[in-house]
Amino acid sequence: MSAASTIESIETTTEVSTGPGTAPGVREGAFGNARSLLCRECGHEVELGPSYACPECFGPLEVAYDFPAVTREEIEGGPRNIWRYKALLPVPTDIEESPNTEPGFTRLLEAGNLGRALGISKLWVKDDSTNPTNSFKDRVVACALSAARELDAKVFACPSTGNLANAVAAAGARAGMKTVVFIPSNLEKPKQVNSAVYTDSLVAVEGNYDDVNKLAQEIAAEEEGWAFVNVNVRPFYAEGSKTLGYEIAEQLGWRLPDQVVIPVASGSQLTKVHKAFQELIKLGLVEEKPYKIFGAQANGCSPVSTAYKAGVDAIRPVKPDTIAKSLAIGNPADGIYVLDIARETGGAVEDVTDDEVREGILLLARSEGVFTETAGGTTVAVTRKLVQTGQLDPEAETVIINTGMGLKTLDAVSDQVGPAATIKASYSAFVGTGIA
Ligand SMILES: *Cc1c(COP(=O)(O)O)cnc(C)c1O
Ligand SMILES: [Zn+2]
Repeated sequence: MSAASTIESIETTTEVSTGPGTAPGVREGAFGNARSLLCRECGHEVELGPSYACPECFGPLEVAYDFPAVTREEIEGGPRNIWRYKALLPVPTDIEESPNTEPGFTRLLEAGNLGRALGISKLWVKDDSTNPTNSFKDRVVACALSAARELDAKVFACPSTGNLANAVAAAGARAGMKTVVFIPSNLEKPKQVNSAVYTDSLVAVEGNYDDVNKLAQEIAAEEEGWAFVNVNVRPFYAEGSKTLGYEIAEQLGWRLPDQVVIPVASGSQLTKVHKAFQELIKLGLVEEKPYKIFGAQANGCSPVSTAYKAGVDAIRPVKPDTIAKSLAIGNPADGIYVLDIARETGGAVEDVTDDEVREGILLLARSEGVFTETAGGTTVAVTRKLVQTGQLDPEAETVIINTGMGLKTLDAVSDQVGPAATIKASYSAFVGTGIA
């Protein structure tokens, strides 16, 4: 060992008492209170940077923190968006100064009518359809955008089942970054348009999401300076979903619900809501208590629920065939962790048919005035099935997450609803309909 490197290593060990810190070339504080990227499989820690797979075992990396003391008052005094939780996210303290889409702090609706219809006595809907591009994906993209900036990325990109492309395209436009989004070519028209309005680089790929994802991995490996939000900056992206968990607890009056039902595509959101609850307990922001986490899938793409029901640990990839396109990931990256969490907490993973998904959309619309997309229809229908099969306790406080907006998947229900009558503009014609 040379003298120079000895000095360097001494400096490093005295200075960095808290762990690996940020990668070379990244400014101090770029990731707030985050300490490192930690392998979920073997616990190996690496520096905060554009890494997503463990160099030791290829396991997925997740952001680890050295949290300071955080109080409810500090959070409550923050902005009415996800940055109120910035101390718990991998973002800098001056995050509010950079243009972003400021998602989050969406309403938690008390859903008495839906509860009565489902036979659940205390039910809430966390309604994420009101985010800037009308899905929960704005949360994860806001965190990914911060990471992309700090890592000096030139292009902001993603492979997407639809909603992610909408969120990336919008956030990239607002940030003034070059944005390229990749989608399966058979995606619903409204979701295509909802990306193309923000970017002239929407790429439709012949194939399903898993094909699109593979292509993105290839581009990420070949091209310099591309931040694929859910590939090479995935650890930072994924943390954004924690804010759903924080908000549910805060909006319930700083306590955890007994049961939560969450739709599952890659499984990232579900695992992060659990992580959020665990962090709130560790930080003393909520009282520790048991809670159950349930996953919802459509049975045309239900690799996680299939593994759950079979009682196995391995997920067998499937070829998706369902109207719930936002959940159509046949090879879910976080599927095995969803299984762990559902089993550990006493929850379950369940799936429903496309017809039940449609019924779920109409049930939520007609009971609570909330128009959800197919993913939300899946969640409502799975919740109903969980009650009917005795897997969900109808007396326990339950929150279901509406992750998206019905206007993006109009075709799913457009054959089932429409005018009750088409009439001449006359009173007698109206009386003739029998509606009055
Ligand atoms: C992406 C998406 C999900 C699932 O998210 P994962 O974190 O990949 O499991 C659920 N609902 C909607 C509307 C989505 O767009
Ligand atoms: Zn590892």
